[in-house]
Amino acid sequence: MSDLLSGKVVLITGASSGIGAAAARVFSQEGARVVLAARREDRLTELVDELKAAGGEAAHVVCDVTVAADAVRAVDFTVSTYGRLDGAFNNAGVGGDRTPLHLMGDDVYDAVMDTNVRGVWNCIRPEIAAMLAHGGGAIVNNSSVGGLVAIPAASAYIAAKHAVVGLTRAAADEYAGQGIRVNAVAPGTTRSEITADWFGRNPGLEEMVNSRTPQGRTAEPEEIASAAAWLLSDRCPFLTGTVLPVDGGFINQ
Ligand code: NDP
Repeated sequence: MSDLLSGKVVLITGASSGIGAAAARVFSQEGARVVLAARREDRLTELVDELKAAGGEAAHVVCDVTVAADAVRAVDFTVSTYGRLDGAFNNAGVGGDRTPLHLMGDDVYDAVMDTNVRGVWNCIRPEIAAMLAHGGGAIVNNSSVGGLVAIPAASAYIAAKHAVVGLTRAAADEYAGQGIRVNAVAPGTTRSEITADWFGRNPGLEEMVNSRTPQGRTAEPEEIASAAAWLLSDRCPFLTGTVLPVDGGFINQ
């Protein structure tokens, strides 16, 4: 255990796999009391047991971020379980199909927008309300390098992740004077269920992306989680409204 997030209460959405599950482990190791939210309860209970066995404090709440009432319930559960909400990692998201824009189905657009944009919208509002009631806090939204630049055949995802950047900036601006910092991480290609699906259905995609990444590799989910942990911590009190690429240099070219 170390102390980057010592004593903080942090809600993590999309904690049942990938970057969110890594965040649960990293934040817990850094001293946070964590509440894990997602739809697959079996995954959440397994992870909560793992964190508790390692000496952490953790609880879970089943939550579909596309449902506003679920997001409110997740925040209420966090506050009733641990007394307040200091930090939130709005990470839940879906990848959608890799399809040319003119062939992409409206159903894909709707699913990607509902989860990746409305999901953040649904969560950030009760999170801010809870933080205002307890003197402030820090929020990190999970955008993507696709929130900063285009990547091929992922137009709905790119539009959604740019919207997450916009929401991050708007919220940071509105609540900076009330003790709430709002930032985003913009991961490059990271090992998770989303990329396993993309790579599985698009042979050669991982190699192509890696060849366009200066560090020449895919990130491990813990590398994104560590950046989020720092943004949620008190080590960067003057940092708000920023979007931090964690991408092996991808957008720096
Ligand atoms: P995973 O598929 O491994 O994780 C996605 C998580 O989101 C799961 O825990 C899933 O849980 C949860 N989730 C999906 N839909 C909902 C929903 N409606 N309500 C609640 N939870 C939901 O992929 P990643 O770890 O890669 O994805 C995490 C975030 O990282 C996403 O926002 C993604 O866009 C972003 N990202 C990922 C990159 C990558 O290369 N992997 C790069 C850039 C950004 P469950 O199914 O149990 O609900």
